[in-house]
Amino acid sequence: MTIIGSLPDLPSIMLYSHMDTVQTSSDWTHHPYSGYKDENGTIYGRGAQDMKSLGIQHMEAFRNLFEQGIKQWKRTIHIVFAPDEETGSENGMKGFVKSEEFKKLNIGFSLDEGGPSQKDIYDVYYGEKVTWFVNVTITGSAGHGSKFIKNTALEKLERLLYNTRKFRNEQEALMNKNNLTLADVTTLNVNIINGGVLVNILPEKIHVCELRNGYFREEPLSFQRLICD
Ligand SMILES: [Zn+2]
Repeated sequence: MTIIGSLPDLPSIMLYSHMDTVQTSSDWTHHPYSGYKDENGTIYGRGAQDMKSLGIQHMEAFRNLFEQGIKQWKRTIHIVFAPDEETGSENGMKGFVKSEEFKKLNIGFSLDEGGPSQKDIYDVYYGEKVTWFVNVTITGSAGHGSKFIKNTALEKLERLLYNTRKFRNEQEALMNKNNLTLADVTTLNVNIINGGVLVNILPEKIHVCELRNGYFREEPLSFQRLICD
């Protein structure tokens, strides 16, 4: 949706949100795609927060301003809804920015997804938090599960989990102590652990996937040491 500005040659503003969501699980109180709204006004639906909550705010803001008779700004404003953000944006914004159509929009400033606000305040912050998928393959000595085998993958997994939790706790403490928000710190969570084939055999390999969301204050290699040593 485009609102042409009074000076349309100026670089334009893009208000971006994505429409797709991550997959659903089977334990929803209400159908994840029903958009069910209960008596308190709480909306249940995949993507209600991430990130239709922001897309709807863009639309509501313009509706309110239009009702007040404000219908044009100096710069052209593009309200963009894109697909495939959760899967890497190849057929979404990542592909769109390479197109001629995108270049023609002459975008000078973009406001996109940020952290959700739990207050009636729309938090705006600048800076780019980087999402990093950390895949760790832990190898160790395998053998029969009835023995005291040394240097197992499980021992290393314990260290990885300990280091991850230590980093996570430090960041959380930093946020709470200085009254910061999620936008100011780096989060780190172990989200997938896979390993083992038989109940009586020590696993030779364990795969761990972590999600790190934050700023590269440290080099990737030193971060690797931080969680793996
Ligand atoms: Zn999102």
